[in-house]
Amino acid sequence: MTATQTGATFEDRNPATGEVIAQVHESTQDDLDRAVRAARTAFDGGKWSQMAASRRAKVINKMASLIAERANDLMLMEVRDNGKAISTAKGEMGAIVDCFEFYAGAATKNYGETMPPPLPTYLANTVREPVGVVGAIIPWNFPLLLASWKVAPALAAGCAVVLKPAPSTPLTAIELGKIALEAGVPEGVLNIVTGSGRELGQWLVEHPLVDKIAFTGSTATGKIVAKTAADTLKRVTLELGGKSPSIVFDDANLEAAVAAAIYGIYYNAGQACEARSRVLVQRAIYDRFVAAFVERARNVRVGNPEDPQTHVGAITMPEQFEKIANYCEIGRSEGARVLLGGERASLDGPNAQGMFWSLTAYEATPQARIAREEIFGPVVTFVPFADEAEAIAIANASEYGLSASVWSENIGRANRVARAIRTGTVAINTPYAVFPGVPFGGYKQSGYGRELGMETMRLYSETKSVLTFIGEKPMNPFGV
Ligand code: NAP
Ligand code: MG
Repeated sequence: MTATQTGATFEDRNPATGEVIAQVHESTQDDLDRAVRAARTAFDGGKWSQMAASRRAKVINKMASLIAERANDLMLMEVRDNGKAISTAKGEMGAIVDCFEFYAGAATKNYGETMPPPLPTYLANTVREPVGVVGAIIPWNFPLLLASWKVAPALAAGCAVVLKPAPSTPLTAIELGKIALEAGVPEGVLNIVTGSGRELGQWLVEHPLVDKIAFTGSTATGKIVAKTAADTLKRVTLELGGKSPSIVFDDANLEAAVAAAIYGIYYNAGQACEARSRVLVQRAIYDRFVAAFVERARNVRVGNPEDPQTHVGAITMPEQFEKIANYCEIGRSEGARVLLGGERASLDGPNAQGMFWSLTAYEATPQARIAREEIFGPVVTFVPFADEAEAIAIANASEYGLSASVWSENIGRANRVARAIRTGTVAINTPYAVFPGVPFGGYKQSGYGRELGMETMRLYSETKSVLTFIGEKPMNPFGV
């Protein structure tokens, strides 16, 4: 790993205090080119890409154990860089270790297939080969976790990677680069470049020596990435935005559904792509549900991210803070009913300069902008519905299709609705639906391709078909 050529840096801040916590290298186009060439050379050299899968698995497992050993330091680094509550970061560290362990196992199971012979004298089989050099671009909401979702399967498949974290949260990605080297990933296989997306990210997507782009971010940027990548026909996977609904029927376990609705929107201050930012509640229980939500949400502690008692920390970026404030203004101007919050949360002591937003809830029509557009903050919109058909119609009337939840004690109804919802994930009666072995990704404008699960191994691989002639009499198609 080497630094940038010019030595230029940019400031990285702690959003909970406003303090500058690091000066980070600002990579130039030359630096990016060096990183891509290092990846290309490493990939083509074959030390990693041709290594026995069982050996790659051992190295990836070693990465998992180094991350586990350093979880406390990585967690604190993430908290200071991103502003999230330390309780949230702690959960992520466990998920990151699980992700590397899962893909260590997956490395040895990226099977090809054997086909029935297309002719009696043929053997036909496929092998999965690594797709090549992967450009991985990630946002700032779950920095190390989302880096892991790309780096772990890419390494398991035998790819080389150039990883670009978001400039507001680059620190744990840099640590991941060091951990990879220490675990035995050969030099040049995992490269980290830091700098702005519009420049560095764009150059990475344009670079002719990159074979695939794995992107997580907003739908707007995802479209630019897809268009740019089309020029060189790169493989592209896109994990984009969402406006995910929770649908609560009148036969739901209300206790559990209320607790999950609170967690579903306020976890990570609502800065989660799969946040359940629309809660659709059947009319018969609507008032009771909303009252219970508001009452119990008052027990959620917004505060100093480094305090283990805190549930919800800071908003990560000034632009995001402005966006949330702006949507709350829009909510007011649309005549939405404020159920909770709706303004900045002021803290004192070391967090007096921090960017905190109060836990916010509105009641609105399904057509309101705050009920349709992704806010990416601790802002939830309640919408009542009459029956199953109306709930499905409201849930599906969205350009997004990332995740949904269904709450009902009637398993027939819960599964009927799950089938009718056009999203990549549906959680029935649970607040947790993201695990390393289960594919995660979007329908519609929430993107394409999947992360996690074995399915992802295919997206970091090419399929090669190998045909072997085994007959005794040589073939002579022209009879010459
Ligand atoms: P963003 O603006 O799209 O940025 C994502 C990343 O792309 C950043 O590293 C960014 O760098 C970079 N970038 C910007 N312009 C680029 C370009 N032209 N070419 C290549 N890269 C470029 O998204 P964000 O606002 O940071 O993140 C929040 C969004 O991510 C939300 O919409 C959320 O739903 C989505 N998200 C989706 C998932 C999922 O798995 N589906 C998970 C988490 C987040 P800069 O920061 O310098 O612009
Ligand atoms: Mg930061």
